[in-house]
Amino acid sequence: MGDRWLLRGAEVITCDPAQEDLPRGDVLVEDGIIVAMAPELHASDCRVVDLRGKLLLPGLIDAHRHTWQTPLRALGADWTVMDYLAAVRVKLAPAFQPEDVHAANLAGALEALDAGITTLVDYSHCIESPGHADAALTALEDSGIRALFAYGLAAGPRQSTALPTHASRLADAQRLRTTRLASDTGRIRMGIALTEMQVPWEQSRAEILSARELGVPLTAHCSAWPVSGPSEVQRMAAEGLLGPDVLFVHCTFSSDEDLKRIADSGGAIAVTPETELQMGMGFPVTGRALRAGVRTTLGCDVVSSNGGDLFTAMRLALQVERARAHERDGLSRVLALKAARMLSMVTLDAAEALGLGRVTGSLRPGKDADLIVLTGDALNLTPLNRPRDAVVLQAHAGNVESVMVRGRWAKFQGDLVDVDVAAVRRRVVQARDAVLARVGGPSALLGEREALAEHWEMGAAKDA
Ligand SMILES: [Zn+2]
Repeated sequence: MGDRWLLRGAEVITCDPAQEDLPRGDVLVEDGIIVAMAPELHASDCRVVDLRGKLLLPGLIDAHRHTWQTPLRALGADWTVMDYLAAVRVKLAPAFQPEDVHAANLAGALEALDAGITTLVDYSHCIESPGHADAALTALEDSGIRALFAYGLAAGPRQSTALPTHASRLADAQRLRTTRLASDTGRIRMGIALTEMQVPWEQSRAEILSARELGVPLTAHCSAWPVSGPSEVQRMAAEGLLGPDVLFVHCTFSSDEDLKRIADSGGAIAVTPETELQMGMGFPVTGRALRAGVRTTLGCDVVSSNGGDLFTAMRLALQVERARAHERDGLSRVLALKAARMLSMVTLDAAEALGLGRVTGSLRPGKDADLIVLTGDALNLTPLNRPRDAVVLQAHAGNVESVMVRGRWAKFQGDLVDVDVAAVRRRVVQARDAVLARVGGPSALLGEREALAEHWEMGAAKDA
């Protein structure tokens, strides 16, 4: 039969309300499933990994990332959202060929795994042709990560010859759903990523209904700038289109009423603190969303501007929220948002937001073995007081020593497993060179910034 692993002696942080943390515990994994957890287990016919002095946690879940942007790393370090849209969405995205998307998604997914992310929501909105979609998906499969491949229905700035109409894009998504992504139990599942909802509402409605018809979750950027007229959430609510299968992203300008609507529908929000703070998308909605009862998760969004690890995202989201509370209260007497809360946002809450709460997101017998090991003897984690809080406030991606996805080691004792890292690096550098050459080099990236307001109809939504 398959692999049996006894993970011995770790400080186990379960992130599961029904399963207590174990200051020193054993975890038995069989055929990809956690079959037992206890202070001490005795098992034969298994390989034993000594994890004494180390931390064992569920794998982290990145609820929002445009993985295709990996070759553009840090190009947008000083960009606002308008710069970003002009350079990345208008200029660079159409310059990607399928092989570039594959190189990008493979390197990006491996970067995520390396940083302890075992599940990724890939908001894949660089699909110029069916070949682009296939390449993005193949790379996720190749990487070993668990993912929601959210097919991006957004068209590029110029009409694609391969997918010239909205209907053809919907049909291509359906093609994948009926072929490669027909299963709802595979490592890669299908989702739909909506076009920005400031496009005509009829188009957004068609996209939402299409996701429902395909029976897949949907995710959508939402209220990342002030919107005049009815908000996206109001429109969806008015037509009965909200639901637990919707993962909104940002919602920085959502009203408290909209947050309540999302909470009541069972939907979720992905906060991406680093992009929101940098680009001028308003303050992360974390605190308001949690107070409204929304299932709230975190994402890295784009490595074209910022970091690709969730330790940074947890810390930023937490401390910004605390700063805002101090400002509001004139020095809070109690920190209402607790550090450990952030850990559930990148584990169990995120799994539930993706409909995967019974599969991943915490350590409990019966769940898939999606787990990570952090070094316990690093100076930045020594002495290890309050392990959960230390993970949120002290740990970094460099502490991730081993990563298991569905019982298979993706990273083991410091190294990605069965990955030719040099080749992955070579390919993503080639993709960077090819894409930049096609647009006339880095100096040409912001050339169309002025024309942008017209193209994207930013600010006051013109379809309002
Ligand atoms: Zn995004």
